[in-house]
Amino acid sequence: MSKATFQALGTGDGWASDRRGHSAFLFKLEDSTLLLDCGEPVSRRLRAAGVQPDDLDGIVLSHLHCDHVGGFFMLMQGFWLDQRTRDLAVHLPAEGVEPVRRMLDAAYIFEELMACALNFEPLQSSTSFEVGGITMTPHLTTHLDQLKTTFGEKYPAGFEAFSFVLENADTRIAHSADIGGLGDLRVLLTQPVDLLVCELAHVEPDELFAYLKDQPEGHIGQVAFTHLSRPCRANLEGMQAQAAAALGDLPHTFLNDGDVITL
Ligand SMILES: [Zn+2]
Ligand SMILES: [Zn+2]
Repeated sequence: MSKATFQALGTGDGWASDRRGHSAFLFKLEDSTLLLDCGEPVSRRLRAAGVQPDDLDGIVLSHLHCDHVGGFFMLMQGFWLDQRTRDLAVHLPAEGVEPVRRMLDAAYIFEELMACALNFEPLQSSTSFEVGGITMTPHLTTHLDQLKTTFGEKYPAGFEAFSFVLENADTRIAHSADIGGLGDLRVLLTQPVDLLVCELAHVEPDELFAYLKDQPEGHIGQVAFTHLSRPCRANLEGMQAQAAAALGDLPHTFLNDGDVITL
């Protein structure tokens, strides 16, 4: 019997799309369930996947771009109306904790109305935490570095974006979320992984494929590409051919919304 499944609830990039939802991924390792990112329409996708409000052991938000958090407030409204009862940990960049709390209040999702507590936990790079039986290790990426250089003085935010390693005794998965360059992948691949979920909007496809091909044999069990930029997605067949030629026998797939990978 399978011990781990990964479901792509939304595989789009930052641009609006009639085909793809925004970033949201469901991981089930043994009997633990983790939702990574809440791009819209995550509430609808969770319903469609048969996930009940009390099923989630925790939520992790990689960074505060709207294609990763835009569905979070609707999800919380749903948890209020459906009366989720289990206290819920929401792990997110520290800079998001107060704004998210304020937005929940502004949206009349008061803590007194909820049947569960929402516990906001700031992410700290290289500091692991548990979501059910899943050990999650966030790693700071360079995704927002350029914005920080340009706007950091005027907007004193943290400019934090994280990638992740998720693991239990049987399975290790790396998830790039949004990165700034190939160098951000190194820390995710210091040990072999069963699955690498990798974005394809902020790196050059040919450079990424060459980088992955250079990994030691068997180091990556399989790769699932997501978050393809709009031009890459428009040329999906070309991308698939390019990846097949470059990656050889490294198993890989280009994710569509709803895809499930069983490990
Ligand atoms: Zn994104
Ligand atoms: Zn982003």
